[in-house]
Amino acid sequence: MDHTITTTKPHRRRLLVTSRIGVVPGVLTFLFILSWAGFSLYQANSPAAVSASAGTNEFSSGRAISHLQAITKQPHPPGSSEHAAVREYIVQALRGYGIEPEIQMATVIDRQRDPVLLAGTVRNVIAKLQGTENSKAILVAGHYDTSPQAFGASDDGAAVVAMLESVRGLKAGPPLKNDVIFLFTDAEEEGLLGANGFMAEHPSARDVGLVLNFEARGNGGPSIMFETSNNNGWLIPEFAKAAPHPVANSLSYEIYKRLPNTTDFTVFKNRGLDGLNFAYIDGLSSYHTPLDNIQRINEGSLQHHGSYLLALTRHFGNLDLRQIRLTNAVYFDVLGSSLIHYPYSWIVPVTILVLILVVALVVVGVRAKHLTVRGIAFGCLAFVLTTAIIAAFAHFLWALIFKLRYESEVRPLGETYYSNLYFIGFIALAVAVTTALYNLFRRKTSAANLAAGGLLWWTILMLLTSFYLPGASYLFTWPLIFSLVGLTVSLALKQRNHHSAAIAILLISAVPGLALLIPLTYQIFVGLTLNSIGVVAVLVMLQLGLLIPHLDVMARANQWSLPVLAGLISVGFIAAGVLITSFDRQHPKPNNIFYALNADTGKAVWASVDRKPDEWTSQLLSANPENRPLSEFFSPNLSSARVRQNSAPAASISPPQIVVVNDQNSGEVRLLRLRITSSRMAPVLSLYVDSKAEFLSVMVNGTRLDAGNTAMLRNNKQVWNMRYVAPPPEGVEVALEFKAQEPLKMRVVDQSYSLPEIPNLTIARPANTIPSPNGLSDATLVSKTFSF
Ligand SMILES: [Zn+2]
Repeated sequence: MDHTITTTKPHRRRLLVTSRIGVVPGVLTFLFILSWAGFSLYQANSPAAVSASAGTNEFSSGRAISHLQAITKQPHPPGSSEHAAVREYIVQALRGYGIEPEIQMATVIDRQRDPVLLAGTVRNVIAKLQGTENSKAILVAGHYDTSPQAFGASDDGAAVVAMLESVRGLKAGPPLKNDVIFLFTDAEEEGLLGANGFMAEHPSARDVGLVLNFEARGNGGPSIMFETSNNNGWLIPEFAKAAPHPVANSLSYEIYKRLPNTTDFTVFKNRGLDGLNFAYIDGLSSYHTPLDNIQRINEGSLQHHGSYLLALTRHFGNLDLRQIRLTNAVYFDVLGSSLIHYPYSWIVPVTILVLILVVALVVVGVRAKHLTVRGIAFGCLAFVLTTAIIAAFAHFLWALIFKLRYESEVRPLGETYYSNLYFIGFIALAVAVTTALYNLFRRKTSAANLAAGGLLWWTILMLLTSFYLPGASYLFTWPLIFSLVGLTVSLALKQRNHHSAAIAILLISAVPGLALLIPLTYQIFVGLTLNSIGVVAVLVMLQLGLLIPHLDVMARANQWSLPVLAGLISVGFIAAGVLITSFDRQHPKPNNIFYALNADTGKAVWASVDRKPDEWTSQLLSANPENRPLSEFFSPNLSSARVRQNSAPAASISPPQIVVVNDQNSGEVRLLRLRITSSRMAPVLSLYVDSKAEFLSVMVNGTRLDAGNTAMLRNNKQVWNMRYVAPPPEGVEVALEFKAQEPLKMRVVDQSYSLPEIPNLTIARPANTIPSPNGLSDATLVSKTFSF
């Protein structure tokens, strides 16, 4: 931009003079905000990896990684031989550290699940470090099973090896007062069965005073302490004292409480235990796929897990854990370096302070003639209008992109490999739209009025969260306090013609807001994915609501350069996201194919839930496969779903078996005891009853369920289904007590997690594809019917 051009027209010259005064502060303001925002984002990441040569008292991700190499050679879902091998590795590693672990084996039944009863044989690994003066035990938990196709480096191998390396670290130091129980849970991916089994049956469950649970939903990013038990007012200050690099806030506690997501921690919490739950969530596209492997894990995230784990276990290991409940706390980290926290009882006084500051701003502003009531009202309207426009625009633009570009591909939770391109694109879009609209609004009223209007909305949101979402109140309170003071002081300074000082105050007052909101906006984007881009847009707008005076300073340099620059960045990044359509080894295409053999008819099919065959699935499926239900293999409740399929050669696989152990008839009621086995030792057995009968009770491996204690028998007495995970070699014993006139028809389907070998058929999955994470990819199902 060339500002040296002169013109003879007087009003034109005046304009240029103003812009010459404005250009330096404007550019400085822009650079200051951009660099501070970037720094805030950078600071909120995971800590650096620590090499294997670190001191024996330290947690070292380098040492933990060598364990991780050993347990991530293959996917290891419950019931697979690889799963048994990983369990054996954990046992040997613990023995290597001088602890004799216990394997807890139990049949666990999820009584509340519908429409298929979920049950399984679980094998938890439990290692106990005896304390010197135990008050209550610390339970450290992570799951060692994986979803069927994931190597599980992050989910949840990082937790497993962080636990092993911490056992080493604790053994190297002085003993703790409290007992520490390391619980390597089984079958987390199968309805949290392992954690359920521990809580329901293991005697140590009664000794636990505090739980630390570790999880991952991706392959990188900071390990966030995202969930706590209720009444965390004692836990949080202690967490703040001990956590070396805390990333946590009470907003995520409020959000997660309302989401249906579950981890093992859900089981512990529901059973009345107190504790903290950690997870890292960046890189969602690797979640539950073969991309969750050791090559792609961010070692810093593993270090973050472990540094919390060791430090917190040492800290809580020497505290009295008998009474640890106290009214909830508000808490948030400042750039991952320290945790600010205070009790809920502070919320009201702080809220009153904010209201006083609002009054002060209005009084000072009106007296100095910078603010008018009409102007502030216009500012309020402008803010809400802009927010609505941006949120709606972002939401519908993403919906359109998704429809045109992604609908035919499997995208877990709306994730794409290029979501960060869209993140930058949508943020820039929000900046472009806001700055452009505010250029228009400033023609109607002063920047001070617009700024005050924005802050008034912030005040309303602060009041609402203080009363209805107290854990989220900090997010509005603290940035607002600084912005109110900043705007008030800057207006007073401007009145006395101290323009540079006014701008300096504005910049300083923006620092806390950016430090809190920028990392949180990214965290929320990663957490909620592109599906909730509208929410992210609102957060960006909130941030911009604090920066209206700053936008004005920038606009005085040149009012259209920022909207145009942001607009170009937005178009560039969104277009890049849309246009990158090819898949490669680094970004493979997820797809689905499975094999289903009906052992009664000897007929088999290749089948897929994908919309159309691709270069891999078309090796087995024709271009126009039949699209119909595959009812022989699924629950009658689910089997109306259509699946693309065509016939396949029948592989020689021995089908599942049912043996009658006992069959008794007493009057109307029949008691049938059966033993169900998978002859090929498949990791999952499903049992479907296909004829109508009134079930009175069902016994699974000796555990009796009746209508009083299971959702299925209560809601759905006519059809009875069960999915049994990791059946033992001798099979599962099921006793059915029912009323029926006719013979009982049943189906058993066993399921393994690889495609069968078929003579004379050589097929290979291309390197730029992966099985999609839906539990059926690359599976082999064999179905057989029985009648008793
Ligand atoms: Zn997990």
